[in-house]
Amino acid sequence: MRNKPTAKKPPTYQNDIIGSIKRIDERTIVFARQDLFRYFGKESAQRAQYYDEHPENQAYDEKISKKKPLGNYNKKDSPMFAAQFLLMDRVGAESFVDGVPNKIRSHFSETKAAEKVKSMAKLYGADLVGIGLLKKEWVYSNVGCCLGNNPAYKSWGEPIDLKNHSHAVTMGFKMSRELLSGAPYFSTLLASSQAYAKSAWTAVQLAAYIRQMGYEARAHHFSNYQVLAVPVAVDCGLGELSRAGYLITKEFGLGVRLSIVTTDMPLAQDPPADIGVQSFCAQCKICADQCPSGAIPKGEKILHNGVMKWKLDEEKCYAYWHVNGTDCGICMTVCPWTKPTTKIHRIIADIASIEGIHQKWMVEAEKLVYGLHNPKTPPDFIGD
Ligand code: SF4
Ligand code: SF4
Repeated sequence: MRNKPTAKKPPTYQNDIIGSIKRIDERTIVFARQDLFRYFGKESAQRAQYYDEHPENQAYDEKISKKKPLGNYNKKDSPMFAAQFLLMDRVGAESFVDGVPNKIRSHFSETKAAEKVKSMAKLYGADLVGIGLLKKEWVYSNVGCCLGNNPAYKSWGEPIDLKNHSHAVTMGFKMSRELLSGAPYFSTLLASSQAYAKSAWTAVQLAAYIRQMGYEARAHHFSNYQVLAVPVAVDCGLGELSRAGYLITKEFGLGVRLSIVTTDMPLAQDPPADIGVQSFCAQCKICADQCPSGAIPKGEKILHNGVMKWKLDEEKCYAYWHVNGTDCGICMTVCPWTKPTTKIHRIIADIASIEGIHQKWMVEAEKLVYGLHNPKTPPDFIGD
């Protein structure tokens, strides 16, 4: 007799949602709040409105605005990443991320459509691709990042509506391990900007491809997200939410950046990636122990906005970035999952994905072999 199929218990968000989730207003995130200083004037209506409604954020935001700006650590080499951010901002414009679909629709089965979309995402540059249903809870409620009401973007505070978009395609982009290992200094910023630039360019092309097939499609990337990338990536089966607050993928650990395309095109979905991260992170606190700002919790998961999770303190993390003027990345480089794609490391990743006491031994072995993080010397092309 055949065994009855058992429902696979999905990891992290799907399993840990125990209450109602309130959509997040993008204006409340730390990056968008700094835009109030960078782009909007001291007397601007946006600044007045925001701090009238959120006086609890004002002291922190003013303090950060006076610190070393990100990317200023190494002035001579700033053009290396500044060029990439400039281009990302250009392809963040509404005319790039969105558009009118072709009047003639191509029709495929959901499986065939998913195969085409995933293959093209890889061809355009993605290292990982997954597809899932788009939960409305993960769509920002209002625009927060818009380069100071740049006319090419939607306006600050504008309500976000992706109501026809039923599916999400999440793409993962590997970060350079060599550059990440220089964390928390300048090379980390290059690792991020390289992966973000690739992710932006790929998402814009993929959204255009889907629109050419006659469906609505919008790219979400560093310069213009309308969705929360990490929970959407979990729903697309790319990986699991970690203690460090970022996505862990089996392939690249925490060393991955994300972009997304949302669409109304019917696409076959991927199963959740149940790779043992919840039990692994419960036994491993390497990132929390080595985080210089204390932003990563060492204790148990807590209930936050309807979800049981390890809650990263974004304000502590972001404040630390301004100490060196880079985006830190120590947690990414010390995480046992962020390893090379060699055969031996892939076998270890397979073993780490199985829930059990051996995960604890693996953590102890990791500490013995790698010890405390020591920033590596950056490649020769960086510096004088
Ligand atoms: S990026 Fe650095 S400061 Fe932020 S959570 Fe990771 S280790 Fe901590
Ligand atoms: S360092 Fe350990 S606890 Fe932190 S995210 Fe990686 S596996 Fe989880």
